[in-house]
Amino acid sequence: MRACVLTAPGGIDKLQITDVPDAHAPEAGEVRVGIRAAALNHLDLFVVEGLPGTAERFPHIVGADGAGVVESVGPGVTVLRAGDRVMINPGISDYTCEFCRAGEHSLCVNYRLLGEHLPGTVAELVTVPAHNVARIPSLSPELTWAEAAAFSLVTLTAWRMLVTRARVKAGETVLVWGIGGGVSLAALRIAKLHGARVIVTSSDDAKLAAARQYGADVTLNHRTQKVSREVRALTNKRGVDVVVENVGAATWDESLRSLGRGARLVTCGATSGPQASIDLRRLFWHSWTLMGSTMGNAAEYAEVVRRLGKGELRPVVDRVYPLSDARVAFERLAKGEQLGKVVVELPSRA
Ligand SMILES: [Zn+2]
Repeated sequence: MRACVLTAPGGIDKLQITDVPDAHAPEAGEVRVGIRAAALNHLDLFVVEGLPGTAERFPHIVGADGAGVVESVGPGVTVLRAGDRVMINPGISDYTCEFCRAGEHSLCVNYRLLGEHLPGTVAELVTVPAHNVARIPSLSPELTWAEAAAFSLVTLTAWRMLVTRARVKAGETVLVWGIGGGVSLAALRIAKLHGARVIVTSSDDAKLAAARQYGADVTLNHRTQKVSREVRALTNKRGVDVVVENVGAATWDESLRSLGRGARLVTCGATSGPQASIDLRRLFWHSWTLMGSTMGNAAEYAEVVRRLGKGELRPVVDRVYPLSDARVAFERLAKGEQLGKVVVELPSRA
């Protein structure tokens, strides 16, 4: 099968489009999916760069998000059949550890991600547990393959951050950094669905204009404006109730300065660097809650898929590239030029 593989860690020039052995035939409880589109995430850049803990065997097929057609099913799989149009939840859990048994599949002690610890989705075929695929809901207009591929990772991540972890409520104010990214865009829409007032930032005025189309109440250019000062002014010195972080070192101080009393900060990433500090006196005096969050559990995935089916969480696709241009797609992501998801499409094998 054709696939986009990383031949060695060290950057985008180590990516190749090449032939590799087909994904293994589905075993008990598994399905093999003929991929029609794969969406890129920042995670994929970390893998390509060789972040410790990511891919260790090469060539390695990249990509976490994907959508396509079920090609075959393994023994015992009754809920899906060949020909079903599906999208993939990239987080693979063992369904046996104490966290899985408690329904917290993203806390699984053996949690692995497609394209990071396992062969990824930028390939003609991928084999995954049947637990990890969902039928693409019927919408009007129908979801494109690119939209279906763009949905899972960022929507699931943002849903858990805002709904399960931060418990955002109507009337609250939420600050979302870097609105070009997929998690941030999903966070904006989920916060709006819950009746929050949302302040978003970007260094790009065109992205801020687009964010207003997607429901942002206030937009700030974090290159030309001091975010915490603007937030204080916009909230009558009160600060926000929730900060959605995935930038890390570059924004951490400003995130803390934007928090109001009793506020929550929830983070799922550290793209600008992992080290940050905090004055503990401010943490306890203001009763802040700092929360980490990664991906989401099976119930949360089912819920975001259900919401997608109601037309509420249609993902935003930035650009779509053919498989032959997968490296160009990675370059666009690396430059941070995108608004929404960068997607690679694959031809049908049928
Ligand atoms: Zn587990």
